[in-house]
Amino acid sequence: MATKEKLRYERPVINKISAGVTDKFGMSTKMEVIKEIDNVKVTDLLKEYGSPVFVVSEKTIRNTVSEIKQAFTTRYPKVQLAWSYKTNYLNAICQIYHSEGSWAEVVSGFEYDKAIANGVAPNKIIFNGPDKSKKDLEKAINNGSYIHIDHFDELYDIISLSKTTKERPKVAIRVNMDTGIYPQWDRFGFNYENGEAWNALNRIMLSEKLDLIGLHTHIGTYILTPDAYGVAASKLSELAVRLDKKFNHKIKYIDMGGGFASKNTLKGAYLPGKDTCPTFDQYAEAITNAIINSEIDPQNMPTLFLETGRALIDDAGYIAGTVLANKRLANGRRSMIVDTGVNMLFTSFWYEHEIYPAQEVSTHTEDTTIYGPLCMNIDIIRSAINFPLLNKGDNYVLKRVGAYNMTQWMQFITLRPNIVLIDTEGKTHVIRESETNETMVALEKVPKHLK
Ligand SMILES: *Cc1c(COP(=O)(O)O)cnc(C)c1O
Repeated sequence: MATKEKLRYERPVINKISAGVTDKFGMSTKMEVIKEIDNVKVTDLLKEYGSPVFVVSEKTIRNTVSEIKQAFTTRYPKVQLAWSYKTNYLNAICQIYHSEGSWAEVVSGFEYDKAIANGVAPNKIIFNGPDKSKKDLEKAINNGSYIHIDHFDELYDIISLSKTTKERPKVAIRVNMDTGIYPQWDRFGFNYENGEAWNALNRIMLSEKLDLIGLHTHIGTYILTPDAYGVAASKLSELAVRLDKKFNHKIKYIDMGGGFASKNTLKGAYLPGKDTCPTFDQYAEAITNAIINSEIDPQNMPTLFLETGRALIDDAGYIAGTVLANKRLANGRRSMIVDTGVNMLFTSFWYEHEIYPAQEVSTHTEDTTIYGPLCMNIDIIRSAINFPLLNKGDNYVLKRVGAYNMTQWMQFITLRPNIVLIDTEGKTHVIRESETNETMVALEKVPKHLK
């Protein structure tokens, strides 16, 4: 005779009825439950790799890359992706993008060396950012990498280095501009409206020492209006046309940077991000219309570079974990403590991350605050969420955590967990091991007199 598990006791609660926020499908009535990620059981992942654990879906990464390629290559003849290293620079993750044909987009000497160590051809590395040392620049020049100049001091460094380098520097400038998005990101690159960008381009052309190959912009991040990209692409196209007119010089590419929104929901947003985030088609339409309809010579259309970060990887990342405790706050409000803290979920400072139970739950929900495990007041995963009653030891899954968390996380109070990749065949691989006390003290030194 099959024995039936005893039903779990659930404490009764009295709820004040309050109108919730609806999405475009109306009020959801049942909480989604995530028991598997790419057909791998959440309980198996936790048993094998510990709790919490980051899980990355290779299938989702590859599918998302094909989506963006489809959107852009059907509208424009020459498109090249460059993986934004700072969004997630775990080597295994970078290799997936490189195997899909992406170049590397780096913003520091450290990231530059990482791309080289990953086997990226130096002439397929785009070097952005305000902090490039003379040594970094010299290396990038001699390697034939693409250097996107951020400010005049960097331009003068490159001009002076070019007197002794073996290769002619291949450069573009980063342009910032008014695209209707405020606050304007004007701290990077040269401004379009005040003439600084045009001034920099003239200096580069007249120096005769540098090869001006492209124009770059990165207008911001999590940009919800595709039209802003249309404005930016028009302004870069206009600079390209002026260069052609004045110097008879044709640039090879226009780089539109990153910044497409992912499906995460920003704090304070009225509607969920999955309903409001523009599609790749909408971004592609705005950008390619602007370039195609410009005065750029149709015989010499520049390649369109994209440095998309968060929109390509956010959905591929999950955290699976375990409930540590439930408790009532002084005012009676329910709070739940989970084993994922803001130390490993940096993006919880600006996103309302989606969190789901990993096993069947009752339909009772209660307004809940979800705390992380850190002994720190601001360790909050969700300040207010209508959530079912999970017990100590129950599991949960956080969704869309692939972007920035595995690079911006911080070592604080506790050790960071395993990161596991599920490959396209459903096999699991550790791609970064959990930290140990030995990892933590590896770089420490205790002076003799304190031993
Ligand atoms: C961060 C960054 C990106 C990627 O931005 P997303 O918003 O993640 O798409 C691309 N280009 C540059 C220069 C960046 O600094």
